[in-house]
Amino acid sequence: MTATPTPATTAELDALVIGAGFSGLYMLHRLRDLLGLDVRVYEAGDGVGGTWYWNRYPGARCDSESYVYCFSFDRELLQEWQWSGKYPEQPEILGYLNHVADRFDLRRNIHFRTRVTAARFDEASGCWDVETDAGERVRARFLITAIGCLSAAQVPSIPGLDRFEGSWYHTGQWPHEGVDFTGKRVGVIGTGSSGVQSIPVIARQAQHLTVFQRTPQFTIPARHGTVDRAFLDDVKSRYDAIWDQSKHSRAGFPYEVSERSALEVDDEEREAIYEDSWQRGGFRFLYGSFKDVGLDRRANDTASEFIRRKIREIVKDPETAEKLVPTDHPLGSKRTLIDTDYFETYNRANVTLVDIRHAPIVEITAKGIRTEGAEYELDVIVFATGFDAMTGSFLKMDIRGREGLALREAWAEGPKTYLGLATAGFPNLFMITGPGSPSVLSNMPVSIEQHVEWIADAVAYVRERGVERIEADAVAQAAWVQHVNEIANLTMFPLANSWYLGANIPGKPRVFMPYAGGVDAYRERCDEVVANGYEGFVLGASAPVERAAAGS
Ligand code: NAP
Repeated sequence: MTATPTPATTAELDALVIGAGFSGLYMLHRLRDLLGLDVRVYEAGDGVGGTWYWNRYPGARCDSESYVYCFSFDRELLQEWQWSGKYPEQPEILGYLNHVADRFDLRRNIHFRTRVTAARFDEASGCWDVETDAGERVRARFLITAIGCLSAAQVPSIPGLDRFEGSWYHTGQWPHEGVDFTGKRVGVIGTGSSGVQSIPVIARQAQHLTVFQRTPQFTIPARHGTVDRAFLDDVKSRYDAIWDQSKHSRAGFPYEVSERSALEVDDEEREAIYEDSWQRGGFRFLYGSFKDVGLDRRANDTASEFIRRKIREIVKDPETAEKLVPTDHPLGSKRTLIDTDYFETYNRANVTLVDIRHAPIVEITAKGIRTEGAEYELDVIVFATGFDAMTGSFLKMDIRGREGLALREAWAEGPKTYLGLATAGFPNLFMITGPGSPSVLSNMPVSIEQHVEWIADAVAYVRERGVERIEADAVAQAAWVQHVNEIANLTMFPLANSWYLGANIPGKPRVFMPYAGGVDAYRERCDEVVANGYEGFVLGASAPVERAAAGS
């Protein structure tokens, strides 16, 4: 039974990819240049880059070190590209992705300034009919989402924004021409990764900066700087080993993971190890110090307490320091942050911290922001308020699978996927870094490459056998969803209100969305599925769609 009439199509493709960031670019290359398929990419922006095309706010950079924040699939590409920063800054990452697009001649298959609005699976043909906001309609055998995990920007609905006489911006939709804060009174709402990166940079330019903080954060110094050339030359001479280690690690990094427990050393030794990790900076503080910081609450308390002491040491005004000390969640239960001069910024005379946990924002007025405690006059408001993460970009599109099943209906209680790669009821639809895969808990390019290669192999497998459809089996999917939840419950993640759980979006189902079992274990499982003849997938016709009971 076909629920929705199929629109007239203007092209027939082997595969349609949505998005031209890291994921979409590599997916296009893999399907077009290795499998010889007819592929098209739709991209909403007018250039490649995805996340790095949109997030141009001051101070935007990646928390993964540059030498592993790139593709590993092409040895020449690895050798020819020169990173300049220890952590890659947004313009440099965007430059890299443009270089990749040129090098592999990818642009000729990308339709820019085109947003996919709807996709319907046609039962008779076993293809997807896809519609765009540019009025294009195409039919494709495979539909692959490369839409990123953090793409649907979230501006909270605070009353009065339309009355504000100044200008306002969201970090994830930053104007390409930049924003000049010179002489301006600026307010930043939000202290996640985007806030913590932009606040020190805005403070250096603005006349006055007021930070509106709902939840204080644990953040670790990045120790950012220019990358050492001798280090990069060494990396390039042993890249194969570096990627091998990264791909078989827990989080996609080539770091040695500590074998020690934080509870088996005395206080002095523990303090020295934390201090050394703090001075070295970055995520090594979590992985390189002790093995149980992310798993054992008592071990975690020692690391959390170390950072609380650091905040009190760095921030000179004791009242401001206390406002900045996180007390309601353990380290690592929200996304761990990496910063440059974040806490130091609160020692500046032109920076004010406002605690909106205890005196919430009431409204935006013509002149600024009014909280329960006071009114703050502002010329510019920056929303560093995050994203409708992991599912927001999927559910903006009207995606309908077999028997007209809407993805919005299938995921009404939270996303349900098999391996984060596919979802039951939606044949021939693959997701790159979908919910239920390690994605945001890992170094993204490592996870993206694994997904792209797995999907391309699956497409080749079914095509070689003349099989017209491949779909996640509902029973295998239910088991995977349960496994994802069980693993999350062994970690610190359920102990905070975070976007990992959808807690930042009013009304969003509270479900832990990424897979916390590690990229190593995950890769093994994906490989096993293939070795067992695509275990957990139905190849060919599928059983009737399972729908949620009415009213549930
Ligand atoms: P985020 O982590 O979701 O942080 C949003 C901030 O806004 C939080 O402080 C949140 O407070 C606050 N907020 C949200 N709604 C609010 C409201 N209605 N009123 C007041 N405050 C509100 O968003 P993000 O900083 O854009 O980062 C999202 C993710 O993108 C990161 O976790 C990371 O994975 C990725 N990212 C990475 C990098 C990097 O690699 N360096 C940089 C930027 C982003 P609560 O904590 O109380 O909810």
